[in-house]
Amino acid sequence: MSNNLEQDVSQWSDETLAIRYGYHPTQEGEHGEAIILTSSFVYDSAAQAAARFSGAEPGNIYSRFTHPTVAAFERRLAALEGAEMAVATSSGMAAIMTACLGLLNAGDHVVCSRSVFGATQVFFANHLSRFGIQTTFVDLTNNQAWQDAIQPTTRLFFLETPSNPLMEIGDIAGLCAIAHAVDALVMVDNCLMTPMLQKPLALGADIVTHSATKFIDGQGRALGGAVLGSKALMAPVYGFLRTTGASMSPFNAWIFLKGLETLSLRMKAHSEQALAIAQWLEAHPAVESVFYPGLASHPQAELIAKQQTSGGAVLSFRVAGGRSEAWKVIDAVQIFSRSANLGDVKSIITHPATTTHGRVSEADRLAAGITENLIRLSIGLESLDDLKTDLARGLGNE
Ligand SMILES: *Cc1c(COP(=O)(O)O)cnc(C)c1O
Repeated sequence: MSNNLEQDVSQWSDETLAIRYGYHPTQEGEHGEAIILTSSFVYDSAAQAAARFSGAEPGNIYSRFTHPTVAAFERRLAALEGAEMAVATSSGMAAIMTACLGLLNAGDHVVCSRSVFGATQVFFANHLSRFGIQTTFVDLTNNQAWQDAIQPTTRLFFLETPSNPLMEIGDIAGLCAIAHAVDALVMVDNCLMTPMLQKPLALGADIVTHSATKFIDGQGRALGGAVLGSKALMAPVYGFLRTTGASMSPFNAWIFLKGLETLSLRMKAHSEQALAIAQWLEAHPAVESVFYPGLASHPQAELIAKQQTSGGAVLSFRVAGGRSEAWKVIDAVQIFSRSANLGDVKSIITHPATTTHGRVSEADRLAAGITENLIRLSIGLESLDDLKTDLARGLGNE
């Protein structure tokens, strides 16, 4: 590929951007993206060094905050999310931390969905609170509850949609209207959908965060994350990262660059397989209920059709019975990995009540619908028939 700066990319579709955009080859003319392993950069002259440091001349300075391989990943992901700018980070949690600490001040108030990723909940409840930033947790699907939680100091709405593990949907456009009416920002963790299935910025959100560790890598190799939005909002986020250093490693950036190249195909295949498994489970006599944002039976099917192009890889279901019936399914699998991760080509089976949500009190867990008979699946790319056979082992005969 030649220099992308000379290409008219405005008409490119996501599939083309994900493969072709953002990488500027070195003088060697390599076809594959190079990993540049260096911590620092040299200058032609004292004047050039001064110009780089003052920002008068764009270019690399020091790999904590300017790195060509990381920048290529940032440009490619930004193009896919429709963002002016991306800031890559060392993990998904580093993305959320960097975004919040870059944009919030002591005394600010946050409204956050109750059903966010566990570490995200702990970050808002136990860590941001130590710096004078208080958070009110509300039901993701109840727009009125978000409205009612607003205080004069509310600066940020934070949500994840679909929620994990119950696959509830937050109304991104509706929540943006509520937040923007009081000049609050809306930040969406788009990890479960990726830009291939959902584009929060196009729905009105101000900031997107990612754990690249999940689907962007897609093969369970590396930790990384990103924050995306307008140049104006990313300036303080980048400034905070530059100073504090939760930066992405060049090697990980290279993995994620290559991951983006197959993201569209993988998300399509993940979604097709997950839908087929969800439909099969829904018809299974040993299954009580199935939660998947692609099933016609999903109570928010209309909203789903408006903001996602398909359901993604993750679903959950309740087996008839309790913990022992759920554990029987989990212990019987021979292909699914018994793990708490998600977003891998390898399928994963999880018992949320005793793992991801094990530290939540029983009352809170039940209020959130995380019952003992609930199983979460992250559907990978193995053969669909093999996956059904594997789940059927512990579910008893049809
Ligand atoms: C895994 C995950 C994170 C955290 O990402 P790390 O890369 O593990 O730090 C944040 N949000 C969601 C939805 C996740 O699944």
